[in-house]
Amino acid sequence: MRLNPDQTITFSATDLSNFISCQHLSQLDKRRANGELKPPSFVDPYADTVRELGLEHEERFVQYLRDQGKNVIDLRDIGGENGLDKTLAAMKQGADVIVQAVFDNGKWRGYADVLLKCDKPSDLGDWSYEVGDSKLAQYTKAGTELQLCVYSDLLTEVQGVKPKKMYVIKPGGEAQPEEFLYQNYDAYYRFIKGRLIVAIEGNHGPTVGGSNSTQTYPNPVAHCNVCRWWMHCDQRRRDDDHLSYVAGMQGGHVTELNERGVHTLEAFAKRSQALDSRPAKGSAETYEKLHRQAGIQYEGRVKNEHISRLLDSEINEGLHRLPAPSEGDIY
Ligand code: SF4
Repeated sequence: MRLNPDQTITFSATDLSNFISCQHLSQLDKRRANGELKPPSFVDPYADTVRELGLEHEERFVQYLRDQGKNVIDLRDIGGENGLDKTLAAMKQGADVIVQAVFDNGKWRGYADVLLKCDKPSDLGDWSYEVGDSKLAQYTKAGTELQLCVYSDLLTEVQGVKPKKMYVIKPGGEAQPEEFLYQNYDAYYRFIKGRLIVAIEGNHGPTVGGSNSTQTYPNPVAHCNVCRWWMHCDQRRRDDDHLSYVAGMQGGHVTELNERGVHTLEAFAKRSQALDSRPAKGSAETYEKLHRQAGIQYEGRVKNEHISRLLDSEINEGLHRLPAPSEGDIY
C-alpha cells in the first residue's frame, strides 16, 4: 500500500490477500503508508530462505519453458527504469513467455511471475497472455487466487481482453501448472476488492457487501504467525490483558465473553463463575475449564510465580490414551 503525493492510495496484490487474512493488518498498513506508524521492525528469520527457494523454483520453471523451445523475455535482464513500458513492449513483440511482468494503473500495481502467451486474439494481435505465479506451497490459498485476479484484471486493461485461465506453478509441477478459470473468481475478487477500498478509503470505493470498520482490533488469526506486525499487535494485546492469552481460548470464546461484558483475562479470572447462563455456542464445560485456566494464570501473575494444578486422572483421557509401551520406544 502506497500513499501518493496527491494523497491517493495505490494498492498491491499483496494488500488484497492480506485483507482477507486480517483486516487489522490492512489498517496498520494504511497507518504506515500515511506516516502515522513506523514500518514494523519484525524480521522473519526464515524470510531469506523462503525467498531464495522461491526464486530457485521460479528459475526452474523458466528454464523448463526455455527447454521447451519457448521464446522467453526476462524483464530482469533488460535495462531501464519503467517496468510497465518494458512489459508492454515485450507483449507487443509477442514473446512466448514474459518473466517478471509489471502492471500499474495508478490505483493497483502488481508483479506477475510470468505471462504465458496463448492464441486468443487481443488488442496486441492474434495472441494474448495469461498469468502464472510460482508458489512453494502444495495447496493454493484464496490469497493466491486473489493475487492472480489482480494481475489478470490489470492484464485485461493492457491487452483489451480478459484472460481465460490463471496458473499456479508448484514445485515439481513445472510441466502441469494448476489451472484456474478467471471467470470463476472474478466476482469474488471484485467483492473483496470493493470491501478493501471501502475499508481504507471510506466511501470512495464501490459500496458492496458488508460494512468495514476502521476500528479494527488485533484479534489473533492464523496469519499472525507470519505477520510483520506481530510484535506491535502482541504488545497491544498484552497492554489490554486480552482474553486470548488464556491458554486454550479461541476467537469464538472471546466473542461470547465480550458480549457478556468480559474483556480481560483478569476480569474473567475474578468472576465467581465462568458464565451465568448457557453459551450461545459450545458447551458450558469448556468455559468452566477456561475459567479455571484464567484463574491459574492470574494467580501466577499476582504471585509472580509459575502455578500449576494437577488434573484428576481420567481413564481413556490425556496420557492414558497413549499406546502401551513397547520395545524400541525412544522415550
Ligand atoms: S499480527 Fe495478527 S492481528 Fe496483527 S496485523 Fe498481523 S495478522 Fe493481524
